Amino acid sequence: MVSEVGADLEVRREQALPHGVAVAFPVYAERALGAEVWDIEGRRYIDFIGGMGALAVGHSHPKVIAAVKAQLDRFSHTFFGSIPYQGYIQLAERLNALAPFSGKSKTLLVTTGAEAVENAIKVARYHTGRRSIVVFRGSFHGRTLLTLGMTSQIDPYKRGFGPFPGDIHFSPFPSPYSGPSASEALDAFRDLVESQTEGEQIAAVVIEPVQGEGGFVAAPPEFLRGLREVCNQRGIVLIADEVQCGFARTGKVFAIEHSGVEPDLVAIGKSFGAGLPIAALIGKAEIMDKVPPGGLGGTYAGNPLACAAALAALDVLQEEGLAARSVKIGDRLAAGFRALNQSTNRQIIGEVRNAGAMVGVELVEDVESRRPAAELTSWLIKDAAENGLLLASAGRAHNVIRVLVPLTTSDEILDEALSIFAGSLARAADRVCA
Ligand code: PMP
Repeated sequence: MVSEVGADLEVRREQALPHGVAVAFPVYAERALGAEVWDIEGRRYIDFIGGMGALAVGHSHPKVIAAVKAQLDRFSHTFFGSIPYQGYIQLAERLNALAPFSGKSKTLLVTTGAEAVENAIKVARYHTGRRSIVVFRGSFHGRTLLTLGMTSQIDPYKRGFGPFPGDIHFSPFPSPYSGPSASEALDAFRDLVESQTEGEQIAAVVIEPVQGEGGFVAAPPEFLRGLREVCNQRGIVLIADEVQCGFARTGKVFAIEHSGVEPDLVAIGKSFGAGLPIAALIGKAEIMDKVPPGGLGGTYAGNPLACAAALAALDVLQEEGLAARSVKIGDRLAAGFRALNQSTNRQIIGEVRNAGAMVGVELVEDVESRRPAAELTSWLIKDAAENGLLLASAGRAHNVIRVLVPLTTSDEILDEALSIFAGSLARAADRVCA
């Protein structure tokens, strides 16, 4: 599948880049539109990875391109702390209006998801005067040293990079499929807070309402309500990390809205910038305003080009009804995936779960044992790429296909992708289960 040009780029990549920068397939992008990517050989692919969940509005959305071009013609960077500009304020106002809180909100702009989470911890620590953080097993919060400390998976993320900042405690995340149940996980959380840590030192509880890297597992509403209750009783700041599950991916702008629980702070990133590097921390004003001037910021934080892209992306989200579309995409794909155990005549799909278009397909050796089928998953991903569908995995055992397709994708493209998926799954199963 790799031509001479592609092979040459592979050799040059090997020579020029550190091994730590992994590349899933040698598909070198030439151009991209909506949910389609063309590589340098002119081959077309359907993109179910969507910039790892950063492209809810799709590749090269004309509104985003026009907004960024117009801003580029005016200026591309100043440093907001020295020479401010309107775009930052407009974007903060738009996000404050959308925020899933009843009271007044304030928004800080930063550049990456990890930075948004780091700033959430800074704000929570300043507000409470406490130091500890509670996170959940299966979580992913970023690759900086603090957020890596808050991330649960050892390989390939954490091994060899410690020590990490202290006072980070892991509590079980509920999973209807693999356990524990919501009430078991809540009991474990209460026990952690009450007797396994200095409970009065806990500044923040950080949760992905739908875990991304962890395998697309949604926290049940009663679990989120339980966390909220404990946080209220103890003055702990509840932080929703919506970097992956936010921006209409689950059928609502913020995934936590499904539960009716109000967090205190929300970190967003990825799709909110429509492919440009921008992220944000949205929070209750009384908490956000505690940090004194100069305590928050960064050179590129709220970069004008990225603000223009994010403002355009918010327009697209509203004008094209992406939240409603997300539900339709999720229903269509989940039904298509569920039908595959019959059509392949093999019981290798353990579970298809979805929150809107955030669809996870858990592949297992057989539905009784539920043993993760990691090898099958990697063959499936390879075969699908060779046949024009780009897929990514997730989950502790890398056996969950996670769908992060743009929310602008047509039904025709979704159906085409399902049909490629079916063929690749059957071939991967033949190979592994032979
Ligand atoms: N939080 C979550 C839930 C994420 O999925 C990610 C990225 N996968 C991050 C934080 C980190 O975002 P970034 O890579 O932009 O730093």
